[in-house]
Amino acid sequence: MKVTEHIRRAKGETLFSFEIIPPIKGRSITELHENIAPLMEFKPPFIDVTTSREEYVYIDRDGLLDKKLTRMRPGTVGICASIKHKFDVDSIPHVLCGGFTKEETEYLLVDCHYLGIDNIMALRGDAMKEEQYFEPTDGGHLYASDLVQQIRNLTCGKYLHEVIETDHNADFCIGVAGYPEKHMEAPSLKTDLKWLKHKINLGADYVVTQMFFDNKKYFEFVEAARKEGIDVPIIPGVKPIAIKKHLHILPQIFRIDLPQDLIDQVESCANNKQVRQVGIEWAIEQSKELKAAGVPVLHYYSMGKSDNIKAIAEAIF
Ligand code: FAD
Repeated sequence: MKVTEHIRRAKGETLFSFEIIPPIKGRSITELHENIAPLMEFKPPFIDVTTSREEYVYIDRDGLLDKKLTRMRPGTVGICASIKHKFDVDSIPHVLCGGFTKEETEYLLVDCHYLGIDNIMALRGDAMKEEQYFEPTDGGHLYASDLVQQIRNLTCGKYLHEVIETDHNADFCIGVAGYPEKHMEAPSLKTDLKWLKHKINLGADYVVTQMFFDNKKYFEFVEAARKEGIDVPIIPGVKPIAIKKHLHILPQIFRIDLPQDLIDQVESCANNKQVRQVGIEWAIEQSKELKAAGVPVLHYYSMGKSDNIKAIAEAIF
């Protein structure tokens, strides 16, 4: 079922959802299932599965290093199918512009359609580790909005090379990313919102936000988005801090600010077990306020082990 339909049927109740990362190549899917299973009691209507950019690896061939491009965490669509099958829940693949040609994307979208996947999260993807800026793949898309257009074209049977008249078109519900603290490359929040609006105009149905640790940022973002005429659901993304290093890694990767109170609490922890507890408590407080404000869904970023998400969900749902 489409995310927008789940929200409509919830009649104002806040839903619980989360995002998982595919295992590293060669690892078993069982561990992933074991992390999802304890969260199913909170009845997530959908689970997101991320896609990682390809990266270079160096293979030693008789003393000479061979540079090869590979994906360390492949299998997003396969994992979506597996989750859907095992837990009878909607699963949402994150589909990227970066690393894929339009042809490959069409192929992937057709697979999703046949698998009964109704939702797609359409994203540009970040620059590869070796790149300073995002470089579009040859034959691929430059912006998420171009990807939204390709996905929406399928609704009227418009494939890359032909228009097919049929009664069973792939009519995906499309999610896109939004940034309460603006996207790192955007010159201003206003400009970023203009491009977010463009994604909605082209057919995106809902927005999921980048993580934020101060709810004020989310509330102000929603207000600004509404003023720009963005009227689709804006789902807040919440991430519990789990290790001390997050204080530096998260601002560096996502260009977000952390509240001083949270920084002080994390810094005073003697070990990462204590940090994990601080992260849980902070996310519970954030979640309580967001739920009271009537957000449609609380969407949690889960990195591997789900015990912290479970502790938060127990306090909120
Ligand atoms: P876009 O919407 O294309 O925006 C990128 C930048 O270009 C922005 O600064 C925007 O203002 C600007 N812009 C947009 N359109 C135009 C235009 N037409 N002309 C000029 N400027 C324009 N990354 C992954 O690799 N895998 C994932 O699974 C993943 N999941 C994510 C889930 C969520 C909820 C979020 C918030 C992010 C996720 N990301 C993921 C990260 C995302 O790929 C990066 O933040 C990326 O840098 C931007 O993606 P986007 O879809 O927002 O891009």
